[in-house]
Amino acid sequence: MSIFKLSPAFKDYIWGGSRLKTDFFKNTDMTPLAESWELSVHSDGESIICGGEFDKMGFSQYVSEHPQAMGTNCQRFENFPILIKLIDAYDNLSVQVHPDNEYAMRVEGEYGKTEMWYIVDCEENAELIYGFDREISKEEFAQRIENNTLLEVVNKVKVNKGDVFFIEAGTLHAIGKGILIAEIQQNSNTTYRVYDYGRVGADGKPRALHIEKALDVTNLKTAPLKNCGEAVCVNGVCTRMLARCEYFDVSELKIETEAELFADESTFNSLLFIDGQGIIECDGQKIEFRKGDSVFVSADTRYKISGKCICILTKI
Ligand SMILES: [Zn+2]
Repeated sequence: MSIFKLSPAFKDYIWGGSRLKTDFFKNTDMTPLAESWELSVHSDGESIICGGEFDKMGFSQYVSEHPQAMGTNCQRFENFPILIKLIDAYDNLSVQVHPDNEYAMRVEGEYGKTEMWYIVDCEENAELIYGFDREISKEEFAQRIENNTLLEVVNKVKVNKGDVFFIEAGTLHAIGKGILIAEIQQNSNTTYRVYDYGRVGADGKPRALHIEKALDVTNLKTAPLKNCGEAVCVNGVCTRMLARCEYFDVSELKIETEAELFADESTFNSLLFIDGQGIIECDGQKIEFRKGDSVFVSADTRYKISGKCICILTKI
């Protein structure tokens, strides 16, 4: 049994802010700071083990050398299936879409990307883009990208803290400014951008769009919003199921004082703390945590969390 903190890889995309540093204790000089990849084996930015027996080991090396720590559910995947991030959108992200597994494997040589967002925090009246507000044809989609009128047919959704969005591969989407998100997604970094608000990148040139591929993969029907379950509270621990699909199983835990938890033999547990602080105890080992920390717990491990906190628990 193993339990350890992961330190993230950071990304300085142009729309990022500074809240991951000021509010979530991320230690980097990177400005702006757009994303922290909190549980990642992806070659574009992997997490590094922090402390304990495997201190400073890349998480991808740990995963490949310890298959039993991933749990039996992981065996059905050829590659490690998920990637978990914190995202601080100081400005709007581009309007984008991700391919499904079949297309991505064929064209990009990696997994497609179904993802899930949990709104950690947001400004009043913040909104995001989730699919279209009516079904459109491929010709209309192409034309509206061409003449910069795409925003007239997208579905804009106002968000509140704690809201959850499940974004199946093929769904057009964009995180709006003033939103801080925890994202659980497939292990992929393939994004097809269709509209970027006319912005330029760090090199002064417009950021690339990927219109042909986006036309191939975008679902042109409206995407219904899924509701997640009500919280169930037992002994001071409130658990809310957020999303479950073939790639990940995500819930929110609100812990009042303590919680006894068990990662069974089927899956590891990933804990992403989004509020509070405390201590995790496991087999005599103690790990302190606070808001912003990411902790990995190997399969078949009993552990106890003490402290008032909110945590996103991901299994596969
Ligand atoms: Zn996305």
